Amino acid sequence: MEYQNEMMASATKLTVSQFTQAAARTCATIYLDNQAHDPNIVDNLHMTTGMVTEVGELVDVFKKNLAYGKPIDWVNVEEEVADVMWYLVNFCRINHINLEKALYNNIQKLKVRFPDKFTGEAAINRDTTKERVELEK
Ligand SMILES: [Mg+2]
Repeated sequence: MEYQNEMMASATKLTVSQFTQAAARTCATIYLDNQAHDPNIVDNLHMTTGMVTEVGELVDVFKKNLAYGKPIDWVNVEEEVADVMWYLVNFCRINHINLEKALYNNIQKLKVRFPDKFTGEAAINRDTTKERVELEK
């Protein structure tokens, strides 16, 4: 762990796995006294609302550009993208979702949906049964 912390301190890029470990360090765990709920329900709500609010901050950059002519601050855009990812990787960690496997399965699903390239017709006429087979692998 110490080695990984030192490695991350000197790195300027992180893999999804390294980012997941680093993001866990600053992730609050919230417990409810009410035992009637899944113990992760509050954390899941925290992570999913966090993703939505961070996407809102990202959308706001482009709204202000379109509506007010405010220049796009790409440093801020990158910050918001990483904020979305922070909530996403913590959501996956809490729920034992292997994000890298999910990303791979997503591409396999899209190969079923669009064997050659994207088409509007293929987007509308999806074979969700075949796609589900890829997602369950
Ligand atoms: Mg943010």
